[in-house]
Amino acid sequence: MRKMATIRIVDSIRPIVDADAIECAIVGGWTVVVKKGEFAAGDFAVYCEIDSFIPSTIAPYLTKPGQYAKTYNDVEGERLRTVRLRGQLSQGLLLPITVVGHLVDIPTGKAVVLADLSIVQDGHDVSDLLGIEKYEPAVPAHLAGEVKGLFPSQIPKTDQERIQNLTAELAEWKSKRLTWEITEKLDGSSMTVYRLHGDIGVCSRNLDLKHNLENSLWRAASAQSLPGVLEKVGRDIAIQGELIGNGIQGNKYKLRDQSFHVYDIYDIEAGRYFTPAERLAFVTEHNIKHVPIFEHAKVVTQNVKELLDFAEGISVVGEGVKPIREGVVYKCNEEQVSFKAINNTFLLKNGD
Ligand code: AMP
Ligand code: MN
Repeated sequence: MRKMATIRIVDSIRPIVDADAIECAIVGGWTVVVKKGEFAAGDFAVYCEIDSFIPSTIAPYLTKPGQYAKTYNDVEGERLRTVRLRGQLSQGLLLPITVVGHLVDIPTGKAVVLADLSIVQDGHDVSDLLGIEKYEPAVPAHLAGEVKGLFPSQIPKTDQERIQNLTAELAEWKSKRLTWEITEKLDGSSMTVYRLHGDIGVCSRNLDLKHNLENSLWRAASAQSLPGVLEKVGRDIAIQGELIGNGIQGNKYKLRDQSFHVYDIYDIEAGRYFTPAERLAFVTEHNIKHVPIFEHAKVVTQNVKELLDFAEGISVVGEGVKPIREGVVYKCNEEQVSFKAINNTFLLKNGD
């Protein structure tokens, strides 16, 4: 599970031109608009990432005056979206550290937080403590299917970490001069086709689905003969990719059909991912669709801001439609690390 709310140290505070009451706080690769004077560089605070569902008990002011709070998993609150305030992009929510404890005045007159001090550490996950969950939109029925079981624990899920959360790692990767494959991030539904202990299966992001050709995922797997490919290969592997098209995520690419595009292959027996080169050889040999590839071995020298700028642009999928692309995904050739850079224009446009 992604860390939605973490304790962080505020890196810096930056003014917003022509704004008296608000300013920007920089936390890792994130910029979030805050009330002027509420935070200072070096302060501990709680940063909640976009897509967090924030209970009203913590931040009632997120609900606009005159409106009702939303409900998600029986909790009243609001989902954090990417917004622009006074022309300034703001992502996430910064809460005073007192939300995880309470302020007491000690004789010196300095206020301190009375909390379990062991948790007041940079990066500590307080999502559970604060009841903050990741907002996941409901899955449409044709994608949901009938459930056979949970996602097999032997296979990693397809989540990618956002580059904004990886500033320290990025510095290290740059110093090692690692090379990266860059692919387009397609906006559809995560799907995994696997062979495990000889059995073939198809999974959505979190669930193993019963075989049924009424189900979009099983149908897409069969359309590219993936069960047959796995039988022929005769090894336990998981082919992972994105299902895009009609009826999925608003079909931004305006595709008539649905299709599955590979972005990862996991070798279950060896317990590691195929390298980008091995994956490419595999999809070529078996004639399987792949997500669009922009670079095979790019040395990353950019900072977070430059990587996010590069994520902007138009999708190469969907002929003549030119949808804004969701972003790009970087996969390392030398080590098993990867990250996503989401296009902020896409987030603003899609209200995410
Ligand atoms: P998100 O959709 O923001 O949760 O980001 C992670 C998801 O992006 C993964 O679970 C995949 O389903 C999806 N995805 C789409 N295109 C790609 C790609 N080119 N490489 C890796 N993941 C991708
Ligand atoms: Mn997605």
